Amino acid sequence: MELFSINNLIKKAVENINQIKESGRLVVGIPQHGIIPDELFHAGGIFPLHLTLGGRAEQEIGDEYLSPTTCPFGRATIGCFDEKNELYSKIDYLLTGTFCNGVQNIGNYAKYFDLPVIKFITPHTTSNSAFTFFLDEILKLKVEIEKITGKKISKNEISKSIKLYNKVRKLLRELNLYRINIPSKIQGLELFYLVHKVFLLGPEIVIPELEQILSDIKDRDPIEKKARIFLTGSGICLEDNFYELIENECNGLIVGDDLWSGYDFYRVDIEENGDPIECMAKKYLLYNMCGRMIPDPRINYIFNIYRECKAQGIIYHILKYCDSYSGLKYEFKKSLDKKQIPVLELERDFAESNIGQFKTRIEAFLEMIQ
Ligand code: SF4
Repeated sequence: MELFSINNLIKKAVENINQIKESGRLVVGIPQHGIIPDELFHAGGIFPLHLTLGGRAEQEIGDEYLSPTTCPFGRATIGCFDEKNELYSKIDYLLTGTFCNGVQNIGNYAKYFDLPVIKFITPHTTSNSAFTFFLDEILKLKVEIEKITGKKISKNEISKSIKLYNKVRKLLRELNLYRINIPSKIQGLELFYLVHKVFLLGPEIVIPELEQILSDIKDRDPIEKKARIFLTGSGICLEDNFYELIENECNGLIVGDDLWSGYDFYRVDIEENGDPIECMAKKYLLYNMCGRMIPDPRINYIFNIYRECKAQGIIYHILKYCDSYSGLKYEFKKSLDKKQIPVLELERDFAESNIGQFKTRIEAFLEMIQ
């Protein structure tokens, strides 16, 4: 089925980027998760390409550059640059900064691939001074985009881009209801692919497909799987095959998540009334639920979505050395124990040697909670 083919999606993304480049538009690569306003690049005529590729082979190439204490995502991203990945080789600028150790390292090594870097400093708190700082970073980013393209970005153009992204988020939220309600009519894997389609193809191309799925979804057969899972922790890269492992090989159903590569992308809209730049800053900083924020805002938030999606257990997925999503481990486990919510903690990288062991552990967990 086309929807579930990573290769087809990447092929389409390459064709799309080629067309974008032929029309004279530029492409910016974004490794930060969920805190950079796509809408601003879109309004400025630059395509925001979320960096989300990478698997075992790319991680191994990245090992040549970075120490194993850089997260697998960071190493695999560098691996993609080194192997001149068809998509990543089209990137004109790389947006990096202080997001986390992985992103900083990607930025530090960009010079080896002749990639000009745009720096964006992201605060770790939502205090008033952090908000003022973040707003200023967005304004600086706007000026930088205008300098690169030679064209001023009007507030009207930003508002139009906000409306477009709000539309795609709303459609994804509507589809998500068919995942969280019992019986589910859409798998976590399908929503994961659809979010990646937005990351790689942009909202204009994906909106008609989402509308079509929504108009047909009621006629789908209910999905029968062994157990309903909530997935939290580090995000999942497109070529990682982790959703496929849980849903296709182990017969689980991921009915909810809070990942940057999933629900977090479409969870909150940007207000459409008010100054568009301030509204962007509010959504991306004040409503940010990333594990890098201090204090980590996620525990109650995760419990609420867990309850809402009627899951039977939680898989807490940590990419090795991902400080952003491992800091909460101890406190989170204690709270889960208190609430008697079953949890399976999996710390991993993209190496294939451990897949058999993870499969056994996931299957045993699903057996236990079903
Ligand atoms: S959030 Fe974690 S996985 Fe993502 S780039 Fe940072 S350290 Fe790597």
